Amino acid sequence: MSVIKRCEKYMLSYAVAWPAAIAVGSMITMTNAYLDLDVASTLFYITLVLMSSNFLPPPAFLSVAVSNVVILSNGLITDGGYLDYKLIAGLVCSLIGLLIIILLVWRNKKATSLWRRKEALFLAAQKLSHTGSVGIIIGHEISLSWSEESSRIFEYPSDVTPTLDLVRARTYPDDLSIIDSVLEQAISRQGLIEVEHRLVMPDGRVKHVQMVASPMLKDGGHIEYFGALMDVTASRQSEEALFHSQAKLAHMTRLTSMGELAASIAHEINQPLAALITSGECCKRWINRPEPDLEEAGKSVDRIIQNSVRISDVITCIRALSRQSELQRTVELFEAIVSDSLALMQHDISYHEVRSHCHLGAPSVFISGDRIQLQQVIINLIINACQAMAGVHDRARILRIHTSVNDSEVVLEVADSGSGISKDILPSLFDPFFTTKPTGLGIGLSICRSIIEFHGGRIWVNSKVGRGTQFMVALPLAPLKEN
Ligand code: ADP
Repeated sequence: MSVIKRCEKYMLSYAVAWPAAIAVGSMITMTNAYLDLDVASTLFYITLVLMSSNFLPPPAFLSVAVSNVVILSNGLITDGGYLDYKLIAGLVCSLIGLLIIILLVWRNKKATSLWRRKEALFLAAQKLSHTGSVGIIIGHEISLSWSEESSRIFEYPSDVTPTLDLVRARTYPDDLSIIDSVLEQAISRQGLIEVEHRLVMPDGRVKHVQMVASPMLKDGGHIEYFGALMDVTASRQSEEALFHSQAKLAHMTRLTSMGELAASIAHEINQPLAALITSGECCKRWINRPEPDLEEAGKSVDRIIQNSVRISDVITCIRALSRQSELQRTVELFEAIVSDSLALMQHDISYHEVRSHCHLGAPSVFISGDRIQLQQVIINLIINACQAMAGVHDRARILRIHTSVNDSEVVLEVADSGSGISKDILPSLFDPFFTTKPTGLGIGLSICRSIIEFHGGRIWVNSKVGRGTQFMVALPLAPLKEN
């Protein structure tokens, strides 16, 4: 029970205090008459001081106390008692007694008001933090006590005496076993008890509460647990909301990566598909001639087959990706991958009126990797190079493809004499969806980088605006035993 409530209880008992005071006063008068002593007035003033301390504020109490001292002394002066040595000694004794009592009462009053202040602050802190205090007394029976805030958490009127039945009535049915376990722990005098459980209010609202209690040994071998009960509903709700947002975000991320995958499929398939259409049209033209050129038609059919195989390979690769299976790593002749990619891009290169200078300086060099993925990288670099040179009219459009061996790496250079890249956008070049093209997707280079990194290699760029761009790829050589 709080101090404030205790004080309220005392105020109610004033009705009893007054008759008691009258009874005490009568006893004093009777004692006075019977023993022929003049202590009645002193005892009366002491009673008055004690009573006024209960309900008067400090300044009023002080004035009552001072008045009592003055009246007590005045009696002696007006009755000429100062002439009697015995009366003076009696007065001094009475005054000392009264003053000591006033001093003690004053100190007690100050301590009480300080305590009330602390109690008020403590209650306010409990209310603000939604934390109440609880007590579990383990004796012959188990009894409970709780603070106002605890009763508010349980949503019981503050004057209701807490019982286990009341607690159980508000406990979420599935969590009743937690209450039983708390009692078991308390009975077996365990150290710190820490639990979290749910409450259910009469209107169906669910609250989450946390309780921490530690034991204190009381007189008679009883043990009492003192603890804090905290309403953590708000934090549990925000955790739940956070969990939902995270799930939503994960869903969105999945959708985004699916979109990214779909875009890369489009990117990778579009090119061979376009080559397929062109080769088909060429083949038709060679056959439809007055004198069909079967040799050229045959070459077109070869290109159709090559491109169809590539599309099928890309799709196999995507299937493998979607099954999250390991990509196929095989030992490949690096220059074969480069020349195959170049052959596939021949049509695009001539369409952009680009001259290609190919210098393959790493013959018989093997790498361990996924042929299709590495072709994707080279094709993407060639497409970008051709596009970068589309606006070049004042100089030759040159695509330089060089390979070389450097220590334990094979290095590929894909360079163009195109527009070049300005310094400020160079750092973002490999970021997904970074593009400067009106219809660009901006994922080609980011895919290139992840493929190269997957193969344990590096990709980087050197460029000067108006002078062209040089993409460099370095891949580790396959271990010798595999060669
Ligand atoms: P996209 O080609 O769809 O824009 P990429 O990831 O392949 O996506 O390229 C990203 C950007 O990098 C391009 O938009 C372009 O600005 C720049 N870029 C790539 N290669 C070159 C190059 N050879 N010359 C100039 N800019 C290039």
